[in-house]
Amino acid sequence: MTDFALTINGKRVATARSFDVLNPSNGSVAARCPEATVALVDQAVAAARAALHGWSARPDQERVAALMGIADLIEKNHAELSELITREQGKTQSGPGANLEVGGAVAWTRATASLSLPEETIQDDDKGRIVVTRKPVGVVASITPWNWPLSIAVWHVMPALRVGCTVVIKPSPFTPLATLRLVELMNQVLPPGVINIVTGGPEIGQRLADHPDVNKVVFTGSVATGKKVMGSAAETLKRVTLELGGNDAGIVLPGTKIEPLLEKLFWGCFLNAGQTCAALKRLYVHEDQYDEVVKKFSEYVQKIPVGDGMDPKNLIGPIANRMQFDKVSAYVEDARQRGARIVTGGNPPQQSGYFYPLTVIADATDDMRVVKEEQFGPVVPIIRYKTVEEALQRANSLDVGLGGSVWGNDPQEATRLARRLECGTAWVNQHATLHPMAPFGGVKCSGIGVEFNVDGLREYTTVQVVNVAL
Ligand code: NAD
Repeated sequence: MTDFALTINGKRVATARSFDVLNPSNGSVAARCPEATVALVDQAVAAARAALHGWSARPDQERVAALMGIADLIEKNHAELSELITREQGKTQSGPGANLEVGGAVAWTRATASLSLPEETIQDDDKGRIVVTRKPVGVVASITPWNWPLSIAVWHVMPALRVGCTVVIKPSPFTPLATLRLVELMNQVLPPGVINIVTGGPEIGQRLADHPDVNKVVFTGSVATGKKVMGSAAETLKRVTLELGGNDAGIVLPGTKIEPLLEKLFWGCFLNAGQTCAALKRLYVHEDQYDEVVKKFSEYVQKIPVGDGMDPKNLIGPIANRMQFDKVSAYVEDARQRGARIVTGGNPPQQSGYFYPLTVIADATDDMRVVKEEQFGPVVPIIRYKTVEEALQRANSLDVGLGGSVWGNDPQEATRLARRLECGTAWVNQHATLHPMAPFGGVKCSGIGVEFNVDGLREYTTVQVVNVAL
């Protein structure tokens, strides 16, 4: 078993206390994780502060080279990182799971390295010169969730480093291992203090969010915690990027040929056992086609192998932790009691590990918790509609808006409707696919700000106008 340690100011730091990280496939201890204290958070922030001037003053090309070196190191250690993710989070080695996550980390790091924010000239004439420059915002605190731990760490950290910020990251206590290893690898390339890592739960996260020497918090997690983070950040007016929960709707247009779309529909719903912020969580289907779609989709779902992520035959793993397993179970029971039909799944086996069967719920209605709240598991409620306008209105009726999708035979017709969805990303005939150059973020309570491409990069900067009279 790898020996895990915090990294602060370029050094491995052992801690007095530690906690178990459980393997969700069997409940065994995947590793012991060092547990930070508030005093260690303060040390990490001080190290990031001390490193800031040197790192931000480096020539741009040196930071690009550092990120490219980090991408190479992630690639070289792909197998180890991928296995750590499966052991701590549960997602599979096969299919779009842990290997996709590590491959994505490499691709996103390289894509971020390729970005730049050149100065903009507003005026340049005989009266004067005005240029707009972007400066690093300073010390960044990154707080990540447990569903895609390595991807989200990379999405937070690489743009911050690219523009010259220094970082303290805190992963979820459910899934700290791959991130601890990532930061260790990054410290082979970066000067001491540029990236630091602390571990622990709410107390540690809160200390980062309200720390007077942190300039920005980038947070990915639930809406409820996001609000707390924003509250903590308010005292010192820190900048925030909040990537929060969603409850994405998908609308199948009347008369859609469903067979060719089943595979994409499946992964849009069940990617990472549904524990994906922008997964399809409510499927609206026209009444004339309802029974056909429920039947064909359920038959497709039943064929997908679920089990231990280390076994290459499985494509979906367990739910990542007991808390989430209990939540998903309760939402399905609520739907059952309110008259929904559990077409497939719904009865978790009595076995070690948090395996929840892939579940399709028919006759779901908007008042059920599984429809109106984010259940974040391998469950899809299918809801009848009569008119497309009504489906759109119901899709837009929640206070979250991360993603949404429209499915149909004519991509142009579907696109017209998709543009009317109130969400950060509107997909057509797919769901939950990302591109490193397409800005990603939520509207309404799904968040503030975006990640990826130059829009994402700007979030780690402040604007300075230099206005020279001649
Ligand atoms: P969570 O909000 O419970 O925890 C997220 C992180 O915040 C963890 O590291 C946790 O330790 C920390 N934390 C807890 N209390 C804190 C506090 N008071 N101050 C500061 N930090 C605190 O979320 P989770 O259960 O780990 O993740 C699942 C949620 O994340 C879902 O709602 C999902 O939709 C969302 N998510 C959103 C995106 C996105 O990009 N929009 C991506 C992935 C996950």
